[in-house]
Amino acid sequence: MPDITITFLGTGAGNCIQRAHTAIVVDCADGTRLLLDSSSGNSVMRQGAAVGMLASQFDQVLLTHHHGDHMGGIPFISGQRRRVDSESAPLQIFSTEQALDRLGKVCLATQLNVPSVDQEGAYFADGSPYLRWTAVDNEKWITLGPTTRACTFSADHIPGAVGWKIESHGVSVVFSGDTRFSPSVAEASQGARLLIHEAFCTDKDQQLANGRGHSSAGEAARVAAQAGVDELVITHIDSPFSADTQPLINDARLHYQGTISAANDLTVVTVAAP
Ligand SMILES: [Zn+2]
Ligand SMILES: [Zn+2]
Repeated sequence: MPDITITFLGTGAGNCIQRAHTAIVVDCADGTRLLLDSSSGNSVMRQGAAVGMLASQFDQVLLTHHHGDHMGGIPFISGQRRRVDSESAPLQIFSTEQALDRLGKVCLATQLNVPSVDQEGAYFADGSPYLRWTAVDNEKWITLGPTTRACTFSADHIPGAVGWKIESHGVSVVFSGDTRFSPSVAEASQGARLLIHEAFCTDKDQQLANGRGHSSAGEAARVAAQAGVDELVITHIDSPFSADTQPLINDARLHYQGTISAANDLTVVTVAAP
């Protein structure tokens, strides 16, 4: 049995018109299910339902940053949880203070029946919480399950953007979030089995990617090589490469000799202890 099973519900860049926005389900052997970013709109509900993962089954969400393609799904996921079970526990959200501040504003703007948002979370009119959020500090581990813990590290994208390292049964995987090439991602990925790294375009357009706060495929691979991970999965794919990700993989191969693949929507990757 794998120690960690990863299901990609959304793998598209912000302007990608062929794929759902970023959302990654991490299922750990101890039964802990984590949702890494929430995609936008109803994508998590639609994509998740297609593979038997209902929004009501997502209890803990780890957000990388406040861009709409990464956190815009939260109001819909939390609303669906309450619709299925009005007594459901609040959705737990973990991210940086900057991202949570923006999320509070999104909740106020989109949940018409919510009168208040405070430091503890967001509340329905009856006073019951439907979201609770926890601000995290980089490189401080938080416990999320019996043998599962996670921590953030800084990414180079927008203020407050982070990546996440998740460890379960002693096996760890890392998600870069949105980022330019960043030594802090390589450092956080030391000892990880798998690195999930964004790759916006081929190396030819690296300057364009960097200008928008993103990485080329070759830069993602350089991070994987520096960290010495066993496997690299690239995601956050833009429209020009949506149908054929091979040019991205070809560029990555020039920099990294481990296993490389590009995630598609509903791709499943398993990670086991050696
Ligand atoms: Zn993005
Ligand atoms: Zn972004």
